[in-house]
Amino acid sequence: MSETFPEIRDSVRRLCAGFPGEYWRRLDTERAYPAEFVAALTKAGFLSVLIPEEYGGSGLGLAAAAAILEEIHRSGCNASACHAQMYTMGTVLRHGNDLQKQMLLPGVAAGSLRLQAFGVTEPTSGTDTTRIRTFARKVGDKYVVNGQKVFISRAEHSDWMVLLVRTTPRDQVKKTTDGLSVLLVDLRQAQGNGLTIKPIRTMINHATTEIFLDDLEVPAENLVGEEGKGFGYILDGMNAERLLIASECVGDARFFIDRASDYAKTREVFGRPIGANQGVQFPIARAYAETRAAALMVDHALELFDAGKPCGTEANMAKLLASEASWHAADTCLQTHGGYGFAEEYDIERKFRETRLYQVAPISTNLILSHVATHALGLPKSF
Ligand SMILES: Cc1cc2nc3c(=O)[nH]c(=O)nc-3n(C[C@H](O)[C@H](O)[C@H](O)COP(=O)(O)OP(=O)(O)OC[C@H]3O[C@@H](n4cnc5c(N)ncnc54)[C@H](O)[C@@H]3O)c2cc1C
Repeated sequence: MSETFPEIRDSVRRLCAGFPGEYWRRLDTERAYPAEFVAALTKAGFLSVLIPEEYGGSGLGLAAAAAILEEIHRSGCNASACHAQMYTMGTVLRHGNDLQKQMLLPGVAAGSLRLQAFGVTEPTSGTDTTRIRTFARKVGDKYVVNGQKVFISRAEHSDWMVLLVRTTPRDQVKKTTDGLSVLLVDLRQAQGNGLTIKPIRTMINHATTEIFLDDLEVPAENLVGEEGKGFGYILDGMNAERLLIASECVGDARFFIDRASDYAKTREVFGRPIGANQGVQFPIARAYAETRAAALMVDHALELFDAGKPCGTEANMAKLLASEASWHAADTCLQTHGGYGFAEEYDIERKFRETRLYQVAPISTNLILSHVATHALGLPKSF
């Protein structure tokens, strides 16, 4: 099977070899941030591949970023602590003004600034983004922001946050997607001055948080693009995010398939390798077929994305298929390992927990199916 970007993949594999299972298990137990891993990826330039060369990045396409994330996950590592450093800047790059780009992009490319918190989800609105309640009121040359966000990952490990707020109440706009705006929030200044971050402990080591906004003042010059048009800016970045997450899922699936195949070849029970039994072989073979199919969909969507063509439905389907392939591979791998799949030292149970996330975040399976049903098949909208 030929691979895209073989040299990049090879360097990523070599870097990841320095961060074996023991490293991730220790962090998982302590729910600690993989600072050394993130520093190594930053130093190697892997987190700035999408930033144009004029701002100090490598100016590569999304397919290169996808190859990096897939290899990280295939190696048994996890990129969720820093993958958003790759793509959150896209909102600034595409819709920010020159001052904002100069203020952030060179620093993000160099790794001296972390722009990897993305504040959309709220406790009361859930997936129904147009109902967010966090409101930014313009007062002179500032916005005064009040509200609450939930499951905002990496906020404690980010210098800046891209924040979605309402600037016109929902009942005063023609379209419910109007009246939403994007603000750039300097988290270093904001904390203790109207912004509070509270970690949420989850079943995985993910550094996710709740954020409380209480009369937080944000300079008006930190508005991205036009006031009221923020929903479109956020949507723009979502295809990239979905495709990168889909690549992580393909990487996870390959990790599980590699591990399951190796174990099935070597574990002997009843006087022969368990992999000689078709009851053990077939689920692994099925997971492999599903993963290859999902990877083709991911590659197809990446090609469209990098050619600047519409790819919303393809990006959604790629994420759907890849997250299901990784979950089925995870379940198969655990089953293949019998009791040992539950033992922490095999890293299967950790990766099993980690890969489950992708059927819920950044968008849940039902919402993708709804997109495909209504956009690709023309079925009536249910909400
Ligand atoms: C670890 C983690 C990290 C995250 N990081 C971030 C982050 O950095 N930034 C951020 O903004 N958000 C983040 N999220 C939030 C994530 O994007 C949401 O959890 C996800 O979009 C689902 O929203 P919800 O949890 O409110 O579920 P809800 O919207 O309450 O939905 C609950 C369930 O109901 C289903 N459902 C809802 N409506 C319908 C419908 N009309 N038809 C069929 N089914 C429906 C959904 O599919 C889902 O399964 C993160 C979440 C987690 C768990």
